[in-house]
Amino acid sequence: MNNHVSVLEINGKALEHNLNYFKERLESNTKILAVVKAFGYGSDGLQVASFLQDKVDYFAVAYTHEGEALRNAGIEMPILVLHPQIQNIDQLVKNRLEPSIYNFKVLAAFLDYADENLLMNYPIHLKFNTGLNRLGLWHNDIPLILSKIHESKHVKIQSIFSHLAASEDHDEKDFTINQINNFAYIVKQIYEHLDYEPMIHILNTSGVVNYPQAQFDMVRIGIGLYGFGNDEKETSQLKNTHVLKSIISQIHMIEPGETVGYNRAFVSKGFSKTATIPIGHADGISRKLGNENGYVIINNQKASIIGNVCMDMIMIDITKIDCKEGDEVYIFKTQEDILHMAEKTETISYEILTAISQRIKRVLTS
Ligand SMILES: *Cc1c(COP(=O)(O)O)cnc(C)c1O
Repeated sequence: MNNHVSVLEINGKALEHNLNYFKERLESNTKILAVVKAFGYGSDGLQVASFLQDKVDYFAVAYTHEGEALRNAGIEMPILVLHPQIQNIDQLVKNRLEPSIYNFKVLAAFLDYADENLLMNYPIHLKFNTGLNRLGLWHNDIPLILSKIHESKHVKIQSIFSHLAASEDHDEKDFTINQINNFAYIVKQIYEHLDYEPMIHILNTSGVVNYPQAQFDMVRIGIGLYGFGNDEKETSQLKNTHVLKSIISQIHMIEPGETVGYNRAFVSKGFSKTATIPIGHADGISRKLGNENGYVIINNQKASIIGNVCMDMIMIDITKIDCKEGDEVYIFKTQEDILHMAEKTETISYEILTAISQRIKRVLTS
């Protein structure tokens, strides 16, 4: 049993608030796909998916084994696997997961598998590259793709989708509009050759915020569910879902000139008081937050991280804070705390959340 005192609380009420925030901004018939890849953006993919199960229309994960974990946890909803590999196809089908078909090799391998195993109308999702140049089929290949799929009764195109390269960036508006238009043209060409209409989707969180006119049939929301919008204004409308807590393990009184931690990186100028917290770089606390770059919160006061971040611990300056061993410490509590961490470690909120290691216990609160 993991009874580590450092805990990541996932706030169910906040998740629901964020989901409703986006629902209110979307047309009433637009479906919502909740992206729960990477353990639900570092939270707990299984608990988040269970919580959202009756509130959204679809789930997506990056890899097949992430989808399998959801199935094993009893999630029955459709699950799109964004980045399956040929060697995962059997595992994917056995778990009733739906593949994103992003290149010819995966298409051919999946069609072969579907034929051999006599699948009937198995849902697949065609992913088109419209400028991100990461994963996706090419529009020039539409005739060939369709001829291959038409020969088979074993699969059915459940959706056609693409992904924006810079939906958060207002300076890239022309590029993004162009991506959306190219995608719409791809869809039109495919629709002309089908006697049914697969679902269409291109928007991620900041796409929903900036290009709601392109919501089509469904939107794929990840970071927004977890409390981060496109900018400060948007984020302020959302609620923080990830709260990382710990406790004070030990307090030390430090004499002037004494040092704290590895490499004696902190040198005390005067009499000071430090606290040791059981969370370190192996838990996702970047070493860049050491030496007073980062802070934690005790009694609503900020306490700087002093010296080097250790693998399993940090030391903080509590000279001016009234507290005792065993007291609660927030590593981060608000979006502001998370964004501060991101800034100090030269990254984005996504990386701060997903970096929280699996050693930390997760608790869903509601
Ligand atoms: C991760 C991902 C998303 C979610 O993006 P957010 O910016 O977190 O909303 C949507 N679509 C694809 C293809 C993704 O890989």
